[in-house]
Amino acid sequence: MGSIPEPQPALRVIIVGGSYGGLSAALNLQDLCHGLPPRDSPPAVGTEFVPGPQFPIDITIVDERDGFYHLIGSPLALASETFAQKFWIKYSDMPALQSPDIHVLQGSVTSVDPARKIAIYTPHGNNTVPAELAYDYFIAAAGLRRPWPVVPQSLRKKEFLLKTGEHTRSSTAAKHGVVIVGGGAVGVEMAAELKHTHPSLPVTLVHSHSKLLSSEPLPDEVKDTALELLRETDVTVLMNHRLERSEEEVDGEGGKCVRVWFANGESLRAGRVDLAVSRGRPATGFLPAEVLDGEGYVKIKADLSFAPDHFAVGDLAKWSGIKRCGAAMHMGYYAVHNIHQLMAVRERAATAGKEEKEPKFLELGEIPPMIGLAVGKKAVAYWPERGVSSGEEVLSAFFGEDLGFSICWNHMRLGTAPEGKVE
Ligand SMILES: Cc1cc2nc3c(=O)[nH]c(=O)nc-3n(C[C@H](O)[C@H](O)[C@H](O)COP(=O)(O)OP(=O)(O)OC[C@H]3O[C@@H](n4cnc5c(N)ncnc54)[C@H](O)[C@@H]3O)c2cc1C
Repeated sequence: MGSIPEPQPALRVIIVGGSYGGLSAALNLQDLCHGLPPRDSPPAVGTEFVPGPQFPIDITIVDERDGFYHLIGSPLALASETFAQKFWIKYSDMPALQSPDIHVLQGSVTSVDPARKIAIYTPHGNNTVPAELAYDYFIAAAGLRRPWPVVPQSLRKKEFLLKTGEHTRSSTAAKHGVVIVGGGAVGVEMAAELKHTHPSLPVTLVHSHSKLLSSEPLPDEVKDTALELLRETDVTVLMNHRLERSEEEVDGEGGKCVRVWFANGESLRAGRVDLAVSRGRPATGFLPAEVLDGEGYVKIKADLSFAPDHFAVGDLAKWSGIKRCGAAMHMGYYAVHNIHQLMAVRERAATAGKEEKEPKFLELGEIPPMIGLAVGKKAVAYWPERGVSSGEEVLSAFFGEDLGFSICWNHMRLGTAPEGKVE
């Protein structure tokens, strides 16, 4: 009499961070484990997809927020309450995550022990008792910490909408206009979106260097085009103005305003001042110090691993190239392709008693500097093969009509409920 095979235990995967990198990892892994083409890399037209082995999986995404926030749309969310509402989708409302294979926990991962394969996380909400999460594979996708208003600090959609709503209303009511400090990509987009959405509001961008995007390794033509487009939107741009201090004062009509002083002795009056100067620091405090570099970035290999069965993707990974959401999603896919390979070789060895074959890993190559920057109704883009391009058609290609929200949403198929396993 034959025996009924034992059901295979689900392989447990923990993903810290449910944004571009983390969601891409979760959903591509589910595709692969269901025998489906990975959504990040569908088969080329005319070629047939050959499914790999299928595995029962149990993916846990831990995120401090209660939903996915379309971070690259932040400059528009700060200028428009309609877009703020659209850009934060609670995980419980996201069709792609309504799968028995994927669970989302709202909380902070505080430490990880790669040797024991245990992560500690502190839930948010009523029960804040730290809990242990055991896993087989681990993916760090926790991004960078950046201050408000560059990145919202709220962890729940409700608070986020209150805070951004207050911010938008206070900006538009600023009789003496808004000054944005910092001419990096974020400052340029914040100034441009505010002016584009509220054309009668005086908006000034101040930057301490002689070129915008001065800390990015990009050709001068990109920086000069960004300045040209920003001036076309009627943002006042002050180059070589290093902020020294700002102090409250009363205007001639008895209203409150801010006097902004620069190192060159000049000053100007503003209704409010927003800082867009921070580069952010990696949110990697939960990882052992030996896997981090001096700045806190995770030292990954080309296969994205930083320890056996442990991977890091997105902004927190130490890799070449400007930090971009496209790169984060791409890395998420590469990491789970490699995890799926590991699952496959181990299963083969366990069931057939054969030696583990070498897994076929995908490896990241050098990523050159490239950028797409939205500036009001136009955009400037640069990548090495195509050089610099700009205009309304570039905005449409890189950002659509909602600062990239629909492009990312559709690319990761976040609005589509998961398909079942291929029989
Ligand atoms: C204002 C702004 C505009 C941008 N514009 C563009 C653009 O136009 N194009 C472009 O390509 N890129 C742009 N970027 C960069 C892009 O947003 C990042 O490259 C991208 O967000 C990286 O994705 P990620 O998944 O690595 O991390 P993030 O998007 O930062 O997500 C990290 C997630 O991890 C969670 N988290 C952090 N720590 C923990 C923890 N300990 N426990 C649990 N959860 C945790 C966070 O809550 C968050 O959800 C912009 C960035 C900013 C700030």
